[in-house]
Formats: sequence, structure tokens, C-alpha cells
Amino acid sequence: MRFSDLTAFCLQGLLDIFFPSACHRCGKRIDSKENCICGSCYQEISFIRPPLCVHCGIPMPTGESHLCGDCLNNPPPYSLARSLVVYEDLPRRLIHQLKYANDATVWKPLEKIARHFDFSPFIRCDLVVPVPLHHEKLKKRGINQSLLLAKLFFRKSMVITPLVLIKNKKTKPQAELGVSLRKRNVKDSYIIKNADIIRNKNICLVDDVYTTGSTVDECARVLLAAGAREVRVVTFARVLLK
Ligand SMILES: [Zn+2]
Ligand SMILES: [Zn+2]
Repeated sequence: MRFSDLTAFCLQGLLDIFFPSACHRCGKRIDSKENCICGSCYQEISFIRPPLCVHCGIPMPTGESHLCGDCLNNPPPYSLARSLVVYEDLPRRLIHQLKYANDATVWKPLEKIARHFDFSPFIRCDLVVPVPLHHEKLKKRGINQSLLLAKLFFRKSMVITPLVLIKNKKTKPQAELGVSLRKRNVKDSYIIKNADIIRNKNICLVDDVYTTGSTVDECARVLLAAGAREVRVVTFARVLLK
């Protein structure tokens, strides 16, 4: 071990003794290498892995990845959607804290989860576009969680453009609505500004949670209508509807 590595190792050990970290979920004392989630809480996160629908990314119970019945009958406008984890327990809590409490302590657990995700379907994208909030909601909340997630996933690899896709209509929160009303709620609520930026570009659209896909469908439809070549979607979590 080099002297500088040894110094860093000793310093980290001292920091762990005097400023111990706690697991974000269960509060158990952990060392800083665990990035705010202890091993057993991390094991309980349901990561979304193949087999998946090759289009919308919904997990398939068994066998190989293929097209699901919904995508076969009614293909979504985006080319591909993927999510990191199932929207339950810890991921639900992390998103809630990110959205409503602007709590910086969620950053490390989110980073730890993102580190194990395969972002390769998105490496050919030209631009990252976060799903926007209406300006009144943004003013009230102070942050757009989709922009924060876009930065977490892609700040080192791609250009993030939050000023192209704009939400110009106030809508009811999607969480309050049933499946059939969600589509109608978001219809025509997004517009494009500076269409030249996205023309003929492959777009990576980022959102926090994929529930029925109504929001990302509508955003993808608007981006494609304005000249984007392709839209691929990544959301942090996905609701698995029973
Ligand atoms: Zn824990
Ligand atoms: Zn599908």
C-alpha cells in the first residue's frame, strides 16, 4: 500500500469512528464504504433485470425477453423504456424524499443503486431531456426530481437539456387518477421550445417513476412530432401493476 493510500485509509477509518454513518432505511451503523444503505437493506431492493419486454421494459415472469402483449397491440411512441428498480419500500421512500423534502442524504443511496444498472441502451443517445414540471409546481417544490435523476445518471456522459420540453398546462397529480384517466390528464400538456435542438436527435427521456407510461408516452409523442429521431426512456423506478 502506498503512503498516500495508507493515509486515506487511516483517515477514513477515523472518520467512521468519530462520525459514524447510519443506514438510510434501518438506521443500523455502517461504514462509509456502504454508501448509506446496509447490506441487508440493499438485498431487499428489487432490481429490474431481464427477461423483460424488449419495448416497454416490463419484467417477464420467465423465459427470454420478448415483446409483451400490450406493446404488440398498442406500441408506445418511444422506442424503448427501462427502469432501475421496482417502486416499493426503499425506492419509494428515496423518491419521496427527493421530491418533497429536497433531502440531500438520498443522493448516496441513489448513486449506489444507479451504479449497478446497465445504461448501455442509452449510450447512443445525443441528448438527455428530463420530464418537466409545470413552472408553478417547480416554484413551489424548488426542484425537478427528473432533472436531478438525469444529472445523477448522465452528467458525465451526455448533454442534459431541461429547456426544450416544457409543461405548459397544470394537470392533476397522476397518482390521484386511475389508469384510464391518466392519459387524458396529460394530453396536450407539454410543448417544445427550441425545436432545432432536438431535430433528428436521439433523445433519452428521464423520469422518476413509470406507472402506466402515460406521461412518458405523451412526452415522447411531442418530442417525435417536433422532429426528434428517436426517444428512449429511463425511469428510476417502475410500478408493477397487479
Ligand atoms: Zn439497513
Ligand atoms: Zn411491453
